Amino acid sequence: MLSNTEFLTMSGNLFTFTNYKSDCRIDINHTDDGRPLKRLRIKSDPSKPIRFAYTPQRGMVRINSAGSVTNDAVLDELLSLPDGNLDRLINYFEKYGFIIPISSTMYESYKSDDLFTIIRRMQYTIKLMTKIQEPQKDYMAILYLVCYLLFTEPVTITSLNNASYDTCPHKMWQYIKNTDLSSDNDLPIYPSKEVDATDQYFLIPDGIKGNDYKLYFTEYYPGFNDTDPFGNPLHSNDIAFHEIRHLFKNALGLPPRERQVVEFFFHFQSDISPICNIGPCGLLKFSKSDVTERYKKFFDASMKTALIDIAKTTLKTEIDHAISAITPDYDTDRMSASWYIPDYIAGLYFSLFYMDSNMVIYRQCGNPTCGGFFRISTTNSKKRYCDDSCRNAASQRRHRQKKQSQQ
Ligand SMILES: [Zn+2]
Repeated sequence: MLSNTEFLTMSGNLFTFTNYKSDCRIDINHTDDGRPLKRLRIKSDPSKPIRFAYTPQRGMVRINSAGSVTNDAVLDELLSLPDGNLDRLINYFEKYGFIIPISSTMYESYKSDDLFTIIRRMQYTIKLMTKIQEPQKDYMAILYLVCYLLFTEPVTITSLNNASYDTCPHKMWQYIKNTDLSSDNDLPIYPSKEVDATDQYFLIPDGIKGNDYKLYFTEYYPGFNDTDPFGNPLHSNDIAFHEIRHLFKNALGLPPRERQVVEFFFHFQSDISPICNIGPCGLLKFSKSDVTERYKKFFDASMKTALIDIAKTTLKTEIDHAISAITPDYDTDRMSASWYIPDYIAGLYFSLFYMDSNMVIYRQCGNPTCGGFFRISTTNSKKRYCDDSCRNAASQRRHRQKKQSQQ
């Protein structure tokens, strides 16, 4: 029989990685206002290794000690984890090990919210990959995903043996958090061209719309309670979106990709609606009630092109960050190229890095009660459900809804 190394060399794996089974418990504390705060207690078992390998055709797979593939749905299962379901998350860790190396002697403690954030970011990254590739683009869905990735607070987890993982801290989020609202002089800011003070506007160079934008004082300096003629607030209460206007006027010297993000969100908010906040599962709350109509009217070709550009840059930043600790690592046993993978989550992202999304994409099942993901080739773009039972469930659901609406 072939040894592990020989088998792997022959099958053309790009990397292998060993994780360990883990044992999980749940701690529940409560906040002062009585909200339950769940923490995961987890410890690894070094006597139970779980081996993974990456093959270009199948992504990251689980292999046995002889090097044969035993499970090729490692990533699909992670993507299909329901948001906020701690039991399912625990099952996943027990099956495949934790996302970073952890102690085998003491139970470590992690906030469940942090873990959900890490998993959700990966799910959204893959959803975004898929949404960008779809021929019929759902721009609103792309906007939601981009907003979540760009504007939500990064999370860092550190284990007892000092292994750590942090989600991508996007530049935009850093600018916004570092800006002092009262000052126009932070960051890489250049003076705007204040053409004529009696005209009461700034002329702002605008890459998305092409022409310089007239930013009137009334738009730039609105009072907190100012409303438009229909009574809709001119302000977002969320600091992130509030700050965009400030960056639009002052941060003209940002690198082009970052400047594009500022311009896009400035126009989105001034033409369509301020964004009040991003909910925990990425849902956006808009301050205007007629968002749908305004979106149809104002979300033009220049905004669509900008959004796709921004989505691509966001995706690149997210994946590049997640794999930044992976290094080339020459394998002298095989006498060939290999990669050092610091932790399980980096391995998963690395398999996205290598995934050719012109060839394969992950799609979410069309059955709303399933929510699972499956990997398909882009030539098989018709497949909407993970299997026949989901297809049937969805068609029965449509049938029931039709019947109800006729009654
Ligand atoms: Zn399904």
